[in-house]
Amino acid sequence: EGDSRDFDAEVKSVCPFCGVGCQVSIKVKDGAVKRVDGINGPANEGRLCVKGRFGFDYIQHPDRLTKPLIRREDAPDKGLNVDPSNPWTHFREASWDEALDVAARGLVDLRSYFGGQSVAGFGSAKCTNEEAYLFQKFIRQGFKHNNVDHCTRLCHASSVAALMENVGSGAVTASFREIENADVAIVIGANPTENHPVAATYFKQFAKRGGNLIVMDPRLQNGLKRHATHNLQFKPGSDVALVNAICNVIVEEKLYDRQYIQGFTEGFFEYRDHIRAFPPEKMSEICGVDPDTIRAVARDFAGAQRGMIFWGMGVSQHIHGTDNARCLISLALLCGHVGRPGTGLHPLRGQNNVQGASDAGLIPHVMPDYQTVTDTHVRDLFRHIWQGTEIDAAPGLTVVEIMDRVYRGSIRGMYVLGENPAMSDPDVEHARKALAKLDCLVVQDIFLTETAMFADVILPASALFEKTGTVTNTNRTVQVVRAATEPPAEARQDWEILVDLARRIGLDWDYDDPREVFDEMKMSMRSLHHITWKRLEKEGAVTYPCKGPEDPGASVVFGDGFPRRAGRAQFTPARVTPPAESPDKEYPMILITGRQLEHWHTGSMTRRSVTLDNVEPEATCSLHPSTLRRMGVPEGGRVRLTTRRGSIAMLARADRNVAPETAFIPFAFVEAAANVLTNPQLDPFGKIPEFKYSAVRIEAETES
Ligand code: SF4
Repeated sequence: EGDSRDFDAEVKSVCPFCGVGCQVSIKVKDGAVKRVDGINGPANEGRLCVKGRFGFDYIQHPDRLTKPLIRREDAPDKGLNVDPSNPWTHFREASWDEALDVAARGLVDLRSYFGGQSVAGFGSAKCTNEEAYLFQKFIRQGFKHNNVDHCTRLCHASSVAALMENVGSGAVTASFREIENADVAIVIGANPTENHPVAATYFKQFAKRGGNLIVMDPRLQNGLKRHATHNLQFKPGSDVALVNAICNVIVEEKLYDRQYIQGFTEGFFEYRDHIRAFPPEKMSEICGVDPDTIRAVARDFAGAQRGMIFWGMGVSQHIHGTDNARCLISLALLCGHVGRPGTGLHPLRGQNNVQGASDAGLIPHVMPDYQTVTDTHVRDLFRHIWQGTEIDAAPGLTVVEIMDRVYRGSIRGMYVLGENPAMSDPDVEHARKALAKLDCLVVQDIFLTETAMFADVILPASALFEKTGTVTNTNRTVQVVRAATEPPAEARQDWEILVDLARRIGLDWDYDDPREVFDEMKMSMRSLHHITWKRLEKEGAVTYPCKGPEDPGASVVFGDGFPRRAGRAQFTPARVTPPAESPDKEYPMILITGRQLEHWHTGSMTRRSVTLDNVEPEATCSLHPSTLRRMGVPEGGRVRLTTRRGSIAMLARADRNVAPETAFIPFAFVEAAANVLTNPQLDPFGKIPEFKYSAVRIEAETES
């Protein structure tokens, strides 16, 4: 605390947590971050949530990795039995030269003996665009395949698949700030007051100004429910039934925008015939929402001049996640709610740079800017830019597929930068067994994460406030991040580590600055046209696509057609598919996992923020009070959750927003890892696991 005279420096950057991308002013004293304030960025106008404002102390946590570590030859085991504050039973310190040599030798030996396919990589949405670009290049150029992925696979891969298929682009069609110009907005399968809190402030203002806010979710939302005109608490996993029923009303009552459909879409007549099979009365039995409410929502959305649809992982993390997103796209197209101010499709992106990391090509089937690896012209372009490197024409493996190959032994080495599959994989027991089998695991991170505990070499890296580079938020806005402090002791910037390791595996890399990486990215990424480093430094943020050197970029896209055949978006019909498993006598309830306001993702950062962890120090299972009464469990008592995959125990929390037959748990707590329970079955298109639906048995935990 204090005024600006109390600090040695004030540096402008971007919040390291969610995809909203709030701009911050970092106040530094004696080389340490002392305070963070919101500044006037395009996504936040000075606002910050509790994570952005108070969650910075993880940077100075004593657990920070400060020197490279190498696994001791006499380490007793490979697994989670490592104390982060005393890892010396398992690891020893090493010089950078030794650690990089051991890491490079491990990966290169595997390449020589078993071929490049024996090594895969997980990059990170917590890194900058330049680091994400370098990481995918490291795998593609160094090992000659596309087995490189990141956490987008676990959050919005299905949304991206549906958007690419139907509108020709995986990014949002409109900034969330466009809600200021909307008349009606649907928020479905998202909990923005917890997960995108600053975006949620704009949603609440919209409702307070008289906007029609329609919230749909299996969990009622404390934050938005009192602002909503309709709260549709539908049954978990019934998204397709609900949205198809809404579209059925729009079609049957001829509420659709005929002119828009004729001018900008294809496939309407097949879609119209298909959607007639989903009347509200019939779908109500599946989704649990009464037909009159479905009709009212359909009329409100179709009847408005300008409407937006926001969605989150409640939509995407299902085996029918791509179908869920297809339904939402069709709903917007039916009503002509795309391409004008106050209209659009917006999947709220999770991590601060998941949009940018995806744009930069950290995806196994596409190169930077979503240029498919199967396209000869694309491979020719990159062969030219990457000085003769042949790009593999076969799409690579996704996160869960890679972990499965590791388990089965065909992938024997991994480079993991800033990801934590030992916590985030949908079947963590399986992932942990797989990680223990690797011949060479190189982990680059700021903490000794659960994944790092399995590593052979650990490379200490940088937090976002120690980095220089660019990141891209959920609105397609590219923003510059500036280093406010130095990494601790011998820790280094991620891009520098990548370059040094690349040289040691034989790549002829010659970058001296992230700017040079950014300039190389511009050679293949049309999305960065007219966005220069100089502009970003001066303006702080530019949104793509951008028409000229003075243009701030387009908040809304596709007003004059879509980047698809004949400029038309597509209706893709979707059928109701049941979840991968159903409740039965043994597992009678439904488990939903997700995030909470104070904790972010696997908790490696926020669990080390004293302020945040003091507010939510323990994992809790949210259950309806009637469910707790039935179980005879008092609030604050312990419950045991068991699915077909595993069992964990935690405190019970009474929560009237959760339906009596469902339970909600957060996934940030290693001591009660949610993904011990979750179902690894994948959506066939986006290859995303079904985190949002598991059959579960919940009982009072008896003390042993
Ligand atoms: Fe950071 Fe997101 Fe909170 Fe903004 S809303 S301060 S980006 S966590």
